[in-house]
Amino acid sequence: MTLTMTAVAALDARSVSAWFGDRKVLDRVSLAMPAGSVTALIGPSGCGKSTFLRILNRMHELVPSASLAGEVLLFGSDIYDAGRKLTEARREIGMVFQKPNPFPAMSIYDNVLAGLKLTGTRARRSEKDALVEECLTKAGLWNEVRDRLRQPGGALSGGQQQRLCIARSLAVRPKVLLMDEPCSALDPTSTRRIEQTIAELAHEVTIVIVTHNMQQAARVSHQCAFFLAEQGTPGVIVEAGPTKTIFDAPSDQRTADYVHGRF
Ligand code: ADP
Ligand code: MG
Repeated sequence: MTLTMTAVAALDARSVSAWFGDRKVLDRVSLAMPAGSVTALIGPSGCGKSTFLRILNRMHELVPSASLAGEVLLFGSDIYDAGRKLTEARREIGMVFQKPNPFPAMSIYDNVLAGLKLTGTRARRSEKDALVEECLTKAGLWNEVRDRLRQPGGALSGGQQQRLCIARSLAVRPKVLLMDEPCSALDPTSTRRIEQTIAELAHEVTIVIVTHNMQQAARVSHQCAFFLAEQGTPGVIVEAGPTKTIFDAPSDQRTADYVHGRF
């Protein structure tokens, strides 16, 4: 994929370090994520990818022992500024997890709208119908569920549930969508459906995806950041750049070894 880089990054992490208690798990990680791009975070388990992703929408604050240094700018303004509301960051920066987590007993229709309540957004019935259709269409699920919107979310297959979760995150119209190994629990066909959805969404939402699947990183991302935590040291970004460069001509031997499965 190619991409024209824009001046202001949708998300810009500047020298982010993170600790759980006394243990430092990320060391001065800086990464700019251009608007309308897909960034893949790659690297071995335990190097801090999920921690970094959670820092990008203040989710790591849910862990009492977690602390942080550095800045995270969303279109130029720091999401950690004292005056800034937590709900604002969460509304503007949606998140999809490895295990699909729709509300299983809630209808497909209500699942899509579930995020609106959390942010206090009200909508008329007619607006809701249109929003549900729009979000399910963007998530690539509309045609499969349009005739059974009142069925419970839990009745869907795993891949459909994950697309329902994507639709749910889109309903509050986020600027950024963070995805932590969204396909790891899915079969290859569902994985390709999600990848297709990612490619289509990237035009309007900036996407950051953690993946262990190098083919997936190569297929969906414009840029890659390779994380590594060597011998008990905190995680760092060894190298970040255009996906083609990271795969075909990385500047660090460790990047080449990792992307070609020699780790
Ligand atoms: P990755 O997603 O790359 O596998 P993580 O971000 O999950 O890595 O973890 C990075 C490091 O932080 C690991 O050593 C992990 O054990 C530690 N860690 C993650 N979450 C917590 C937590 N809630 N409390 C304490 N340590 C944690
Ligand atoms: Mg992880």
